Amino acid sequence: MKFDLAYCISLDAKLSIYDVRDLNFDETMAFDSAKEHFQCPNDACRLAFDAANELGTFNAKNVNYVRTPHFKNLPSTRHVEGCPYVSLKTPASGVEAESAETDDSREEHFPSELLLIRREYVRKESSPAVGADVQRDEPLTPSVTSSDEPPSRDSAPDRTSIFAHPVECFVSNFDDKDLLKRMPLKIGEHTAPYGSFFKKIEYLQDNRGLIYWGKIKEIKDYTQSFRIDFEKKVWFEKKPYSVNVYLSKKLIDTYRKRKAFLEEIKHAIESGRELYCFFYGVTPELKQVPSKKNPEQTFGVFSANIENLDHFIVREAPGLADK
Ligand SMILES: [Zn+2]
Repeated sequence: MKFDLAYCISLDAKLSIYDVRDLNFDETMAFDSAKEHFQCPNDACRLAFDAANELGTFNAKNVNYVRTPHFKNLPSTRHVEGCPYVSLKTPASGVEAESAETDDSREEHFPSELLLIRREYVRKESSPAVGADVQRDEPLTPSVTSSDEPPSRDSAPDRTSIFAHPVECFVSNFDDKDLLKRMPLKIGEHTAPYGSFFKKIEYLQDNRGLIYWGKIKEIKDYTQSFRIDFEKKVWFEKKPYSVNVYLSKKLIDTYRKRKAFLEEIKHAIESGRELYCFFYGVTPELKQVPSKKNPEQTFGVFSANIENLDHFIVREAPGLADK
């Protein structure tokens, strides 16, 4: 069992690693996971130790990650006996090098719902005499409620507002088709297994309102927008049509994660690696656009304008190659 969540002391809340990433990149929020303190999400376990008993993070700040982000035990991390997280492997050496990790290649915690409204985070008052701080200084015994049932279950990240989380579930478990068929995902009014909620871009006509994904052919940098061209074409009335999505630069300029987003796009344009695009919220439609060579002529293309950058991702996904 991996950490689904960790308790963040300054926010007095349990966060998924995807929440932490979102907070790190959010320019409207003063948050740096390297300076924050994370602890075991099991209340009884956490209360049994002092605030120095911390967890570490993996890929919390890396914009362009390939390997699944997660919380991890540090060599010094302790758990009480019976803590459901006690069996987690501790890194053999004290080395913090992220490349030394060999485990944890899959996201095990599938959110059953992607919330379209962002979660709000409120930083705890730092006044030393209030609430939880006081409790933490006293001799610590598990509270009655938390000892009745496994504390981790009710706090599992059943719902998330971070798009990257279900995307990581899909990408890192792509070779386990049965699992993706089994796990349900709800967005808005629509519920479907992960395996069918994620729709290859070439089949976008099958159903509207899904998460569409596909390999990127090219990203064009225009004055007012970026255009993402997909490699696969859509067949409509026995003819193939290109598919693309537009990202307005105005939209990016007012985005709360502008810097990280531009880094993601810049990396995508320059890296020369195979990249995949995932988006939710719009369905590309057949449009007639003027031909560049011959402006009087038009040609058909399936196209959409991305409306919410929170529901758009460009990333590497080696497991999806040639499948
Ligand atoms: Zn624990």
